[in-house]
Amino acid sequence: MRLENKIALVTGGGQGIGKEIAKTLAKQGAFVLINYLDLGNNQEIAQKTQQEIEELGGKCALISANVASYQETEEMFKIIKKEYGRLDILINNAGITKDGLMLRMKESDFDQVIDVNLKGTWNCMKHATKLMMKQKYGRIVSLSSVVGVMGNAGQVNYAASKSGIIGMTMSLAREVGSRGITVNAVAPGFIQTAMTDVLSDEIKDQMKSQIPLGSFGNVQDIADAVLFLASDEAKYITGQTLHVDGGMAM
Ligand code: NAP
Repeated sequence: MRLENKIALVTGGGQGIGKEIAKTLAKQGAFVLINYLDLGNNQEIAQKTQQEIEELGGKCALISANVASYQETEEMFKIIKKEYGRLDILINNAGITKDGLMLRMKESDFDQVIDVNLKGTWNCMKHATKLMMKQKYGRIVSLSSVVGVMGNAGQVNYAASKSGIIGMTMSLAREVGSRGITVNAVAPGFIQTAMTDVLSDEIKDQMKSQIPLGSFGNVQDIADAVLFLASDEAKYITGQTLHVDGGMAM
């Protein structure tokens, strides 16, 4: 139990990589707050994740907020402070893509991706930092991407958001290190999830040919890296981006 008595928030924790992160942190004893965007059947999906965690003996609760909204994230953190009194671990996982080549990309495609991925991460960092500075303890881990390091045709918006997360991570790490707070990022390569399932077989084969380890990663590979950075084993690591990509970016 590496995270006993810790309170953790995983944004977009209802499905995909976020779900595996939530399960992994709960297995290590953390009380996990699973954030989800209250849209369509997302609540139902997040409830299933909650049920799975509880069946494994883990502790968790659901908390809805659109991370792109400053007001909604502020409200979410007010609830966290009131109900739990503290937040030890913040995992900025929520993210979207709106791909397209520059000539075809709409302004709204750029704005929406920046709003969720970059501003959403900033919103949660901003409110979490306030709580964590008072506690003199905190672990912040944000999901960047190999695309934020290498670029990718058709993803200028997504790459900008994911490079931005790396810059924010280093800057915040410098600001809050003296308060016992570490700030790191994990940059996944191609991971088998709904986000990558939509790619054609041709693109998948092309991607695999660029991966020294020769295959896509899985959600547990990412969750294990996040767990490490959220745990006390990583207490002397801050401002770093851990690449979990089969060797794609080096
Ligand atoms: P996913 O299956 O699409 O999950 C994304 C999550 O983000 C969903 O749980 C979604 O919540 C949540 N979300 C989206 N907009 C939100 C908002 N405005 N407020 C709150 N939550 C919101 O994607 P994934 O593959 O697991 O990706 C997770 C993270 O890893 C993302 O940041 C992504 O950029 C990054 N990443 C993924 C890969 C990959 O290969 N899959 C590679 C590199 C980086 P709802 O379920 O409530 O909609």
